Amino acid sequence: MITSSNMITYNDRSVVVETFPMGIDYKKYESLSNMPTVAHQVRNLRERFQLQHIVLTIDRLDYSKGILQRLQAFELLLQMHPEYIEKIGMCMIVVPSRDNVQQYAALRDEIDKLVGNINARYRTMGWAPIHYFYRSFPLEILSALYNLADICLVSPMRDGMNLVSKEYVASRVHHDGVLILSEMAGASKELIDAIIVNPNNIGAIARAIDEAINMPVLEQRRRMLPMRQLVEKFNIHHWVKLFMDTLNEVKRNQQSMLAKRINTEMAQQLAAKYAAANKRVLFLDYDGTLVGFKVNIEQASPDEELYALLEELAADPRNSLVMISGRKFETMEQWFGRLPIDLIAEHGAWFKLKDKEWRQQPGLHDQWKKDIQPILETFTDRTPGSFIEEKSYSLVWHYRKVEEGLGELRANELMNTLRYYTSDKALQLLAGDKVIEVKNVEINKGKAANSWLQSRDYDFIMAMGDDLTDEDIFKALPEEAVTIKVGSYMSAARLYLRSHREVRHVLKMLAKAAAPAVTEK
Ligand code: UDP
Repeated sequence: MITSSNMITYNDRSVVVETFPMGIDYKKYESLSNMPTVAHQVRNLRERFQLQHIVLTIDRLDYSKGILQRLQAFELLLQMHPEYIEKIGMCMIVVPSRDNVQQYAALRDEIDKLVGNINARYRTMGWAPIHYFYRSFPLEILSALYNLADICLVSPMRDGMNLVSKEYVASRVHHDGVLILSEMAGASKELIDAIIVNPNNIGAIARAIDEAINMPVLEQRRRMLPMRQLVEKFNIHHWVKLFMDTLNEVKRNQQSMLAKRINTEMAQQLAAKYAAANKRVLFLDYDGTLVGFKVNIEQASPDEELYALLEELAADPRNSLVMISGRKFETMEQWFGRLPIDLIAEHGAWFKLKDKEWRQQPGLHDQWKKDIQPILETFTDRTPGSFIEEKSYSLVWHYRKVEEGLGELRANELMNTLRYYTSDKALQLLAGDKVIEVKNVEINKGKAANSWLQSRDYDFIMAMGDDLTDEDIFKALPEEAVTIKVGSYMSAARLYLRSHREVRHVLKMLAKAAAPAVTEK
């Protein structure tokens, strides 16, 4: 399984994880507000209620909606502010839902009881504090209520989005009215100009209603206007488009992945092309390409099967094998020095042509290490399991052995710190597979591959690699080169294979395809 930002790729299937905050049909609610029938309803209701302030709440019957806490908050408000008696009223619509389930029926009974208690305690001859409806209403009545209420109170304990809050905003065509919104509703991340409340804090909800009652119209508009703009922009059509576009993009990615993935037929074609060529060069990355990753970098040493494969490929006189790795030259020498192949170590800082000595790329300096090393050390001291690897022209911070989560956290932090320190130096920062590497910017596998190719003439060029540094090779090689990314199809490479096992399988196929010609010699 490979994850990159919000995409998970598993067995050639990519899954995108994304949030899509849902919008509403803004125009519908706006135009309802402008309809004469709705205006008529508003006048009717206003005359009936005879109130200075109406607090509107609309929810489905559900525990998550915080209905009881909201009623308690309203009661607290009446206790704290008896001056509001006969002036304000709560219009509470609860839409029946699942009340054949015992727990929902129990919640409905509790709401009935609490509304009864509050009304009984505070009502006067001509006024009741709560107008409670346990039923649903047609859209026009809802629109009239959104228009009538100067305060809309939405206080769920948890809510993925909450559309009522957006419908209220879309209905306020005169840009007035106050929305009180729970911080636990998804909508609160968008409607930041609402009065945001903690739905568990009954005192805070009561104070928010008081604040809403006393909010000057100018302030109401200052808040309502940006919220209306937001609901208008991120409307339901926008949501559908975004969703469908993302879906299509995933499909496109899947198709491009299918196009790149080397299947049996493509592997056979590749083998035929390889067999027909007379002068071939194979650039092979090591870690993640020829072997899998191990917890200990020293453990990822080559196995017998790999040696046999490399020897077989190198034995073909038409082949040049170039192992091009980020590893130290000492390690490369220890592992591959005896093979008749060319070696490029430390991303190109060191190279060794077969049967010759190791040589360095000229003109490199490493004075920067004394500034960067202490930074890496402070991170190593704070992160159990991490360690620093020093190469001639690079420093690597490894966190493969660090506890999951902590490693990523520190790596992020380190990247940010290093970005600051390296910005004015000729250094490159590389975030690889559980490693962060700082190296001289002039060292680059692409350049190394290019200078290796200079003045040589090949009729088959192939490069295989798995990480960011290999992308430089893919980009640097000529158009006709066969470039193969390992583990991901998101790459400049033209083809991809899933793992080092598949790499070995393909390499074996190539060796086999060319074998008869070799034995004929
Ligand atoms: N609603 C309705 N009839 C009513 C009251 C509400 O159709 O009598 C609608 C309301 O307009 C809103 C939806 O029910 O679109 C409730 O959606 P919300 O996201 O607020 O809550 P959910 O029920 O999805 O948790």
